[in-house]
Amino acid sequence: MRVAENLLHISQQISEACQKVNRTPDEVKLIAVTKYVSIDRANEALEAGIINLGENRDDGLLNKWEVLGDKPIWHFIGSLQTRKVKNIIDKVEYIHSLDRISLAEEINKRAVKKMKCLVQVNVSQEETKHGLAPHAVLDFIKDLRPYENISIEGLMTMAPFTDDEEQLRTCFRKLKELRDEIKNCNLDYAPCKELSMGMSNDFEIAIEEGATMIRIGTALVGAAGEEE
Ligand SMILES: *Cc1c(COP(=O)(O)O)cnc(C)c1O
Repeated sequence: MRVAENLLHISQQISEACQKVNRTPDEVKLIAVTKYVSIDRANEALEAGIINLGENRDDGLLNKWEVLGDKPIWHFIGSLQTRKVKNIIDKVEYIHSLDRISLAEEINKRAVKKMKCLVQVNVSQEETKHGLAPHAVLDFIKDLRPYENISIEGLMTMAPFTDDEEQLRTCFRKLKELRDEIKNCNLDYAPCKELSMGMSNDFEIAIEEGATMIRIGTALVGAAGEEE
């Protein structure tokens, strides 16, 4: 399928999910996750009108950046090794995976402008997932005050891999509650308005639960080996 066709379908699904809960589609930023696909396919996504691209590895991002440059707005969505920060920091608009102080320190040191970060939360507390435990998030964000080049724009999570709608909903709802708690602290360096949650199999539920950024790979640009 062409990206444009997938996009048409997904835009419809976004609209319907928004309607259900009295939101509007312009409240939801669509990030096309291009980690599985070629540079050509990523470019096709841009030509279809997509603005935001997400990559989860520094080498994947660099490969595409060399060709596509600053045409898209780049989101780094994968776990980030401290020593890789310098490779991507001047190319991305958002880092969705801030999860430790040592990483904040490096981002702060290397930043070329105020860096927009989201704190990754392991809501479902699965051992295989990165991110902070929910109870640790507020203290973590309070500890980020000294890092003047970091702005905490919101929270990110990956839901458990399940079709159980209630389990997904509970996960997204918990992230929203946590986001609201932090937003209500009115920290000047942590406006914390964004909720980055929802992927190919759960983005409609995520939107119903308040997502402001959804990260879609498979359903939008395809998975490895199924670009057409
Ligand atoms: C791969 C990935 C996605 C997209 O997953 P799909 O199921 O292909 O939509 C979203 N977020 C993160 C962090 C990812 O690594």
